[in-house]
Amino acid sequence: MKRRSIFIAVFLGFICLVCVLLIQYIWIKKTIDVQKTEVLLHQREDSLSTVRFIQKVHFSLGNVLTEISLATNDSSDRYGAIRQVHPNLFYVEYQGDVDPIYLENTLKREFYKIQITNDFQYSLYNCFKDSVKYSYLFKFTLDSLYENTNIMLDYPTIQREGKSHYFSVYFPTFIKHKINKTEDIGSPWVFLILVSVLILFYLTYSVVIIVRQKKLSDIKTDFINNMTHELKTPIATIGLSSNTLMNDDFSKDPERLKKYASIIFRENKRLEGQVERVLNIAKMNKNSTPLKKTFFDVHDFIMEAKETFDFNLEELEGNLTLKLEANRHCIYADIVHVKNVIYNLLDNALKYKNEDRNLSLTIKTRNDKKYLIIDISDNGVGISKENMKYIFDKFYRVPTGNVHDVKGFGLGLYYVKTIIEQHKGIVRIKSEKDVGTTFSIYLPLKRDENLD
Ligand code: ADP
Repeated sequence: MKRRSIFIAVFLGFICLVCVLLIQYIWIKKTIDVQKTEVLLHQREDSLSTVRFIQKVHFSLGNVLTEISLATNDSSDRYGAIRQVHPNLFYVEYQGDVDPIYLENTLKREFYKIQITNDFQYSLYNCFKDSVKYSYLFKFTLDSLYENTNIMLDYPTIQREGKSHYFSVYFPTFIKHKINKTEDIGSPWVFLILVSVLILFYLTYSVVIIVRQKKLSDIKTDFINNMTHELKTPIATIGLSSNTLMNDDFSKDPERLKKYASIIFRENKRLEGQVERVLNIAKMNKNSTPLKKTFFDVHDFIMEAKETFDFNLEELEGNLTLKLEANRHCIYADIVHVKNVIYNLLDNALKYKNEDRNLSLTIKTRNDKKYLIIDISDNGVGISKENMKYIFDKFYRVPTGNVHDVKGFGLGLYYVKTIIEQHKGIVRIKSEKDVGTTFSIYLPLKRDENLD
């Protein structure tokens, strides 16, 4: 998958996400608007039914009062005798003495006539002490109409100034419903945010996976290209030489015959070596390499390495400087592997030299409390920050497009890191593109720190 395709896929995914969220947003907003209108209608209906209820109660209590006046021959002014002290509590003042049961029955009849089907508590007061004389809660049932429950509910007390007889009617179940659904309406937004976060998380996760897969596929393609490139040359040489051996007459020139045979032998060995090396390192993992540890002096083999590399550097007009500053330079390690590590790093310095300047290589040794540190610095092509993260990965090579002017399989630094970590050491890298690179190898000084 090309970078452009990944970008397009991510971009399309993002657009889809935005569209889905937009649709959700519009949908939720519409629903909320509809609900708000419904709530308003409900509230209006509620207040209308409240007004109607209050009117009905006033009307029936008026009738009750008229009846009491007739029964007690009271002809006084009844204006202001019915008062509503709470939305569901009314009291009625009257003159004369009335039997509580008679009053109760009158109330029931009047309420039933006008279809007040709410439960109510009727209480008759002693007007001198303002205390309740008689009080019962009546439940509206379809069979017995208003059934006496023999219960007495508490309700707000009545503040009053006059000294006339009075009774109260309290409707406990009639509560003004304040439907405030707008408060519940917040939840769709929480849901929308949650879904958005989930989708975003999923999208990011998918992008990470795609990018990782792309990197792996690039590494695989690079490896196959390199492998083909590396193997093709010896195979072609062997092919050409054996063809010559088959077709030419060597009876008069045995030296030529020997030359071609040795070419085949040498190229075959090279092929074998390469396959072996790739297979061995590819098979290798963190703890699998058996180490044969001995005490040895690192300075000694660094000086040996200088001799070998000086020869190569002469051709390249480069130089290798040694700064052997470590006081403690004997370590307990596998000499073959540590040598391979150092040679790998020196080889890389040669391979990745900057073509615009002569190679300048430095090997420096130093100590800190726990380690012998070997710094190998070059002034080569350097490595950019983004590639530096991956260079110790198996098969990773810094991408160079399709140009394979430098041979390799991306296994050298993987080998370096694996071996050093097996010795309980550390590998560090400092590099700047077009300036140069320094690899620092930290090897433990104490024997017990790198014991297997
Ligand atoms: P190989 O050399 O076979 O490609 P390595 O594992 O040795 O594999 O190196 C991985 C990558 O790190 C190389 O492809 C190269 O781009 C980069 N690299 C390693 N050493 C150096 C160096 N001294 N200077 C610049 N780049 C380097």
